[in-house]
Amino acid sequence: MTIKCSKCRNAAVIVRKYEGKALCKHHFLSDIKRKVSRTIRIHKMIRRKDKVVVGISGGKDSALLLYLLKEKQKKQRHFELEALLIDEGIRNYRDHTKKKAEELCELLNVPLHVFSFKKRFGFSLDEMVKIEKKYYGYEVHPCTYCGTLRRYLLNIGARELGADKLAIAHNLDDEAQAIMTNYVRGDLLRAVRIAYVPYFVEDERFVVRIKPLRDIPEKETTLAALLLNLPFSLRECPYVSDAFRGEIRDMINALEDKYPGTKYNIVRTFDKIRPALMNMIKPSKINACIKCKEPTSQKVCKACSLLERVREKGMR
Ligand code: SF4
Repeated sequence: MTIKCSKCRNAAVIVRKYEGKALCKHHFLSDIKRKVSRTIRIHKMIRRKDKVVVGISGGKDSALLLYLLKEKQKKQRHFELEALLIDEGIRNYRDHTKKKAEELCELLNVPLHVFSFKKRFGFSLDEMVKIEKKYYGYEVHPCTYCGTLRRYLLNIGARELGADKLAIAHNLDDEAQAIMTNYVRGDLLRAVRIAYVPYFVEDERFVVRIKPLRDIPEKETTLAALLLNLPFSLRECPYVSDAFRGEIRDMINALEDKYPGTKYNIVRTFDKIRPALMNMIKPSKINACIKCKEPTSQKVCKACSLLERVREKGMR
């Protein structure tokens, strides 16, 4: 039996258990647009004359985010929009996703800037991993290099492009997982920083991060990107393996199946207690890294420590 849209009785493309509604393609896509616009408005994510740089990866979430912001910009025209891709240098993965990102930016007519590990740091991620394996027996996982250096370069890239806001394609699942992961690890400050919208700015050298997709579940970002026929890649990174985060994800998904609305409740509840937590937690003092001058709470930032590790062996 075909399930009908709760609004117009056409065939539904999705059943939202957490709302008790079914929606057809038209009503599903207009609801996604409405929700994202509401998130941007409520959290005052974009102001007049802002330059918004969207961090894109070639994947479905960032494709949808860029599309929705472009649609918004076409109507309102009061902000600038550009895209930034970090090319870590991962063979058979980033080369493929980069092509999809280029196709997307061409289709949407958005300028794309690419910053690469190799050009900035002298090594691609593949080369760093080889050095790590050979000289350190894989003590540091590729995702630690990748995550740290990507965040570092995204911030530098956005700043060099003159961005007022750096838009990140984190969806509801990412938000709920980040909150629970940091909660289980007992890292409250990190949880507060990650969940804050706009991002917790401790220093003007950090470009303000915004997350307009934070109210959209991952299943829906995938469906919307497919229905909109956006170019994106589903290829998985060869280094992926975060067992702990994976367990948290499976646990939240199991709870969501049994108790629809769990993901929203995790994020909403955390939003409510966040102001109290912020009063309790004193943010650490921000210094300038003695090597690169970028902001850090240490003497040497984590990016420089990792780069030193590979440079020491890789320059031989
Ligand atoms: Fe980087 Fe790890 Fe993600 Fe691959 S899985 S893109 S190495 S963070």
